[in-house]
Amino acid sequence: MTPSSSPEVAVVGAGPVGLTFALWLHELGREAVVFDARPRARLADDARVLALSLGSWRQFERLGLAERLPATPIRTIHVSQQGFGRVQLDAASLGVPFFGAVVRAADLIAALIEAARTRGIPLRDETPVEATQAQGERIALTTPQGIFHARLCARAEGRLSAEAEEVFSRDYGQSALIGWVHAEGLAPESAVERFTPQGPAALLPDHGQWTFVHVLPQGEAEQAAALPDAAYLERLERAFGNRWRLSGIRGRALYPLVLRWRRRPVAERTVWLGNAAQTLHPVAGQGFNLAARDVGTLVELLREAEDPGSAWTLECYARRRAPDRQLTIGLTDGFARAFRPQNGLLPLARGAALLALDACLPLKALFARQMMFGRR
Ligand SMILES: Cc1cc2nc3c(=O)[nH]c(=O)nc-3n(C[C@H](O)[C@H](O)[C@H](O)COP(=O)(O)OP(=O)(O)OC[C@H]3O[C@@H](n4cnc5c(N)ncnc54)[C@H](O)[C@@H]3O)c2cc1C
Repeated sequence: MTPSSSPEVAVVGAGPVGLTFALWLHELGREAVVFDARPRARLADDARVLALSLGSWRQFERLGLAERLPATPIRTIHVSQQGFGRVQLDAASLGVPFFGAVVRAADLIAALIEAARTRGIPLRDETPVEATQAQGERIALTTPQGIFHARLCARAEGRLSAEAEEVFSRDYGQSALIGWVHAEGLAPESAVERFTPQGPAALLPDHGQWTFVHVLPQGEAEQAAALPDAAYLERLERAFGNRWRLSGIRGRALYPLVLRWRRRPVAERTVWLGNAAQTLHPVAGQGFNLAARDVGTLVELLREAEDPGSAWTLECYARRRAPDRQLTIGLTDGFARAFRPQNGLLPLARGAALLALDACLPLKALFARQMMFGRR
């Protein structure tokens, strides 16, 4: 067998998570092959924009990728809800240079593919993995191009079926609209998160413009996507409390929102990473960031492991990641749901909580640390 038909690690999925993991495997001197169902020319077709936390950004610095990534730092974050209650977080006052950086997923994937190419990591495009089967010391991957064997199969295929075993699933009944606008009056390198009864809305700085992520109930989101630009901009301005004048809109891609997560992200000679392990609501911008922390822990374990797919290594991985996974998934789900009800005392309690957070620097630092680095 040639080395690439029997690598140590087979990575399924050349999305941001699979490619990041493959680069780390290369750093460790472990042989990996990446499989993707799509043709190479379409791998970077991704309209999403990612707010990378400082922790994820540090990973890309260590991989020598950060300086080649077109990115905009986030130095201030405004959080508010419709009604009263707001928090402003400033990176400098919390002792960090920036909270993270905004990167277009398409740019990130293109940079990762280029880095994989220069390092000689094989990427088999147009090769969907149809099935996997653990067979003692190895795992077999079935593709239309033949059967491949590896010692570990890292499944980063970006999809998680609600019917899969031990998967928790919640449909939020919402979709996110994403695109770009100009925002008059908003300081560059500032991000905004606003909670409304329909769903949260965010503005992320992106090279002098802002990417918006506008969450609406399904049905309303489709209607909003079809509105003429001027009418939609008015609606978006309203969602942000008419605080900023928005213009020059581009794009309006739609993403239906669900929570799905695997209680056990490992099985025999298999680990699930990224959206294939947990698919989160984008409200807290944690989907890729949590995956990057998962990858970081797995890489640390593989540094020492003789057999990358041993039951011991995978069990250690699942145990070490459980607290951060559970907390991040729980917080994200909490944010997605707690800001929706507008009746009773809940809006008052939320407003009071935001004001308390704004007034208490240690609490702000704790909150920001969780968002930047996860639970340690
Ligand atoms: C609106 C929105 C905003 C978001 N904002 C943020 C944010 O600010 N910060 C953040 O951290 N996260 C954010 N996220 C989450 C983030 O986008 C995802 O967590 C991340 O992109 C998932 O990457 P992935 O590599 O796991 O999956 P994907 O990007 O989906 O990649 C999966 C790859 O696997 C391939 N594939 C699929 N099936 C097979 C197969 N059988 N065989 C071979 N290949 C296969 C696909 O072709 C694809 O290339 C956001 C998500 C949304 C929807």
